[in-house]
Amino acid sequence: MTAQLIDGKAIAASLRQQIAQRVAERCQQGQRAPGLAVILVGNDPASQVYVSHKRKDCEEVGFLSQAYDLPDNTSQAELMALIDRLNDDPSIDGILVQLPLPEHLDASLLLERIRPDKDVDGFHPYNIGRLAQRMPLLRPCTPKGIMTLLHSTGVDLYGLHAVVVGASNIVGRPMAMELLLAGCTVTVTHRFTKDLASHVGNADIVVVAAGKPGLVKGEWIKQGAIVIDVGINRQADGKLIGDVEYDAALPRAGWITPVPGGVGPMTRACLLENTLHAAEHLHK
Ligand code: NAD
Repeated sequence: MTAQLIDGKAIAASLRQQIAQRVAERCQQGQRAPGLAVILVGNDPASQVYVSHKRKDCEEVGFLSQAYDLPDNTSQAELMALIDRLNDDPSIDGILVQLPLPEHLDASLLLERIRPDKDVDGFHPYNIGRLAQRMPLLRPCTPKGIMTLLHSTGVDLYGLHAVVVGASNIVGRPMAMELLLAGCTVTVTHRFTKDLASHVGNADIVVVAAGKPGLVKGEWIKQGAIVIDVGINRQADGKLIGDVEYDAALPRAGWITPVPGGVGPMTRACLLENTLHAAEHLHK
């Protein structure tokens, strides 16, 4: 047996097409295009690539895209003032501050300054709190995209044992809440977890977001499990690999996401989905 591929690239492309169609309909009806402001501070090469992709996606679906590329020495006060301005701008539905930020800036304070109804990354404590209380509004993009990938398999998720590897604010924690909301029994593992192999070996669904290449061994995977690899690790030869030993997992997994072409494109598509949702339902 070999795992079926979960083609995040194709699913994301179809989502983008649906969003573009909806934007065209809105514009035909005389409504404005959704607007996304993306703030980049400094010149971290990976962040520059991510931001350029996000802006390209906006153009592709017909969104208004506002770019704020700010120097490394931008102050907290200047950023707060920019966020306040964007919070009050009626043409802007979503505000995204690209992370990580330079060390002198306090990311938590900045993220909390974004109005929750414009928090299209879903990182504001208000949006995380709503997800925790089973009434999600704007949901963190990576876990939300992963739920779409899981549903695409057609597998009934109720009662399945899901193991999340990694407990960050951006991926692991909200992922656990999404899986709980979907009716899974959830185990969250992290750097202090003892015997990771035995947890993974019990998982019907395993979502790995540790940022450690090859952390999850193929032989750990339970026969037929759904394997979602969030990790993005660049090797010395420039090739991207995930956190799961992909080739060794293939004969055991039932479904698996590739890296690249799995979770990454879905994260981007969910940002567009959240921005459209904000325009349609939160900023009428
Ligand atoms: P992070 O560094 O903030 O968190 C990593 C987590 O992994 C921590 O909770 C840590 O405790 C846990 N961890 C570390 N070693 C572990 C071990 N041996 N066993 C179990 N858990 C362990 O990282 P993050 O921001 O959550 O990102 C994780 C990975 O996902 C990175 O490779 C990142 O590039 C990638 N990522 C991908 C997307 C995407 O869209 N594909 C989005 C966000 C992050």
